[in-house]
Formats: sequence, structure tokens, C-alpha cells
Amino acid sequence: MKLAALEPGGAPDRPIEVASASIIEPHASSMPCAACGAQGLRVEEHVALTLPEQGSEPARRLRAVHVTCQRCGTRREVFFRIGTVLPS
Ligand SMILES: [Zn+2]
Repeated sequence: MKLAALEPGGAPDRPIEVASASIIEPHASSMPCAACGAQGLRVEEHVALTLPEQGSEPARRLRAVHVTCQRCGTRREVFFRIGTVLPS
């Protein structure tokens, strides 16, 4: 489980970038379980987070999805960032 934190999405500073919020939950539920490798995670919770700015890094808006493996019951948190395609 420690290694899972090094994978994309495993920590707030390594979010998975997605184009839109609507694909976050399908993406999270299609990831393999970090403990047993089974496919088919159940999305338990989907929360919006805002990380405070740090130095020159602006504040970041993230989504954290809590998933549970339907085979072994291991819970995991996956972090996403929604890519901005809006003109500035
Ligand atoms: Zn599992």
C-alpha cells in the first residue's frame, strides 16, 4: 500500500489529470486495487479539495475519491485534477 502513494493519483501532489469532472468516478472505479489487483472498485465518496497556495504555487483545486475494493475491502484515496481548458 505504501507504493500506491507513488503512483499517479496516490497523493495530493500527484493527481491524475482529467479533462472533465464527469470522468473522475468512472476512472477511479476502473483502477485496479492496490492491494490485490482486482478490478472493480466501488466509489464511496467524492469530495472537492482546495490546497492552499505554497510559495509561487497557486492554490489548487483537487478532487479526492474514496474507493473500496469489492474483493478485499481495501480502501484507497485517489486524487484528480481537472484540467483547465478555459481561455485566460
Ligand atoms: Zn483488493
